[in-house]
Amino acid sequence: MPVKISVHERSVRESVLYQDKNFYISLAQMRRISRDFRSEMARGLAGDKSSLKMIPAYVDKPSGNEAGRFIALDLGGTNLRILQLELKGKGRILKHGEKKVVLGEKYIKGTAQSLFDFIAGFIKDFLREEGLEQTSGLMLGFTFSFPIQQSGIASGILVHWTKDFSVSGVVGKDVVVLLEAALKKKGIQNVSVAALVNDTVGTLAAGSYKDPACDIAVILGTGTNACYQEKLSNILKWPGRKSKTGKMIVNIEWGNFNKIQLTEYDRLLDKKSDNPGFQILEKMVSGMYLGEIARLLMVDLIKRKLLFRGGNLAVLGKEKIFKTEYMSRIEFDNSAEGVDIEALLKGLKVADSSAQDRLLIKSICAAVSTRATRISAAVLAGVITKIDPSLSRRHTVAVDGSVYEKYPGFAGNIEAALKELFGKKSRNIVLKVTKDGSGIGAAIIAGIV
Ligand code: ADP
Ligand code: MG
Repeated sequence: MPVKISVHERSVRESVLYQDKNFYISLAQMRRISRDFRSEMARGLAGDKSSLKMIPAYVDKPSGNEAGRFIALDLGGTNLRILQLELKGKGRILKHGEKKVVLGEKYIKGTAQSLFDFIAGFIKDFLREEGLEQTSGLMLGFTFSFPIQQSGIASGILVHWTKDFSVSGVVGKDVVVLLEAALKKKGIQNVSVAALVNDTVGTLAAGSYKDPACDIAVILGTGTNACYQEKLSNILKWPGRKSKTGKMIVNIEWGNFNKIQLTEYDRLLDKKSDNPGFQILEKMVSGMYLGEIARLLMVDLIKRKLLFRGGNLAVLGKEKIFKTEYMSRIEFDNSAEGVDIEALLKGLKVADSSAQDRLLIKSICAAVSTRATRISAAVLAGVITKIDPSLSRRHTVAVDGSVYEKYPGFAGNIEAALKELFGKKSRNIVLKVTKDGSGIGAAIIAGIV
């Protein structure tokens, strides 16, 4: 049975999603975001006040000829991973072993000591399992998915935590020093930290090891960020040191970009977050927050009796109950009555949804996710035109993260928005999923140094 929505009701719903609350990002807005983003990049590179930190990574892209055996340790927003990799040159990589664990609240909200002791123990187990306890001179690349201010390739001070981390005793400290101290405490003497890299930098290394046209990397997972290859002469704040190539990777820390118009829901989410006023772009785009924005919108519509006839507030009123994964599942349901949406809602103990409710929820998810893709495309366009204003050559963008990979339509909507922005020339932009980039890339960078 087709779902009937009255003209009045439809116009109320559309105005809720697209006009009053400004969830729709027009082409003109994308252009403005892109332009503002470029000028924030320039200010950040000059060392002027900017929402973008533009952190030099102390390393350039790999040549593809790096070779040897390396350990890669990857501390993401959700998982801790370790891999043993063999770089064979010519862009070839062999993976020898891998181990993964989800970090519990105990570690992500605990103390530096408990986190780093846990990491060192995890490394120790891996070395035993891989038969590497007696191997001397193991080089480790450490991917750390948080903003670090580096002063060399194997050192970096945590600027502040992002995502949901709030481990005490780490901000302002060198995370390599903390890791090495924990390794020593566990009696591990054969491992040294050769490189500390941000996950975007690792992803760019992984993408460009195989494809020389890859000069940008983007993360769209728990959080969001990007990095790119910049000319040293453009990094005005860089103290004049030379490098072999004259170029260096710059970690933009784009999650903190803040020249974007917020809705009342974004303001509410920001106010309740661990870091109000910071990571504004991240809060509109990444997996940690999309579900929560959708939930806040639903709560508002419930209160206005436009959803569930005003019911189910007790369930949906709970903070963070509505995950980004659910939005994926909801948008994937193309049935007229929202059959799977109903199953999902039942699982959440949301009672008595009508088909209209379910379709409205689907359009809420679409509004929130489409906005995320158009903002992502706009800031990516900012980076690309910063490097290559007339888009005269090919740029491969290495992308890592579950939101980009798994959210139905996310990748396609970014590409469509890039096409709106660049027309035919958008063919020069190739987005490529670079899985495990953050893991593999740390090993590659350990191989450069
Ligand atoms: P990390 O960012 O920790 O390195 P991921 O890239 O795997 O890890 O991102 C994990 C985040 O992606 C989760 O926090 C969740 O918000 C989101 N996510 C996971 N699976 C899906 C999915 N199927 N659809 C949409 N978002 C997802
Ligand atoms: Mg990751």
